[in-house]
Amino acid sequence: MGFIRSWRRRRQLARTPLDPALWQRVACGLPFLRGLATEELARLRELSLLFLSDKEMHAAGGLELSDEMRLSIAVQACLPVLNLGLEWYQGWIGVIVYPGEFRVHKEEADAHGVVHSIDADLSGEAWPGGPVVLSWRDANSAQAGYNVVIHEFAHKLHMLRGDDEGFPEPPAGVDAAAWRGDLEQAYTRFCAQVDSGVPTIIDAYAAEHPAEFFAVTSETFFTDSGILARDYRELYQRLAQFYRQDPAGVLASLDSEGGNGERTEE
Ligand SMILES: [Zn+2]
Repeated sequence: MGFIRSWRRRRQLARTPLDPALWQRVACGLPFLRGLATEELARLRELSLLFLSDKEMHAAGGLELSDEMRLSIAVQACLPVLNLGLEWYQGWIGVIVYPGEFRVHKEEADAHGVVHSIDADLSGEAWPGGPVVLSWRDANSAQAGYNVVIHEFAHKLHMLRGDDEGFPEPPAGVDAAAWRGDLEQAYTRFCAQVDSGVPTIIDAYAAEHPAEFFAVTSETFFTDSGILARDYRELYQRLAQFYRQDPAGVLASLDSEGGNGERTEE
């Protein structure tokens, strides 16, 4: 199986030539990739090409999708699964890209069973078993702590379980109950922090739901990793354990401190 898989992989890559200048432009436009080693960047490039070969990306709302836009979205989508593999994105194939925010209409029942009709402008959305929908304006906005592509693809990771509880199953070898327990505790603490009015470096939207907590903190983990590691040490360690990445490059020093996982911010 391993041989067939790697043969298929090579064949797919051989069919997808990539202009080195295009790769350079895309990689340079994503400042949070600067911490990656040369070997990791090479794997990210390969994974992104496989992603573009596996998934179908469509423009909507009058947008024209260039190769640079496709590659930028693929790279940002693949960064979280660089050490997990594309199988974490199985079960769906579509990525739909609008020029900017897109309007959605929903019917949602509240806690009393009353159905409300909601119109909202979104920068991104992930459907369980369906497509990821993105605003290119937001996907192209490389700000520390904000990344709509990583956010929506993080939702895909917890949706893989087939429910909407909010936290994905950790990879093999990680104690799932302890892992989830720590994330639930971090979520509860974060909600209390938001309720008390204390400013947070993590977007307060993370307090909406455990799924949003996972998606928003994943954005911070990959695009503002040093701040997350400094202020939310245990959360950083747990996300590093899940993603098998250490973007802030601090895990060794945290381990040698014998970190007991206490949150370090006041
Ligand atoms: Zn979300």
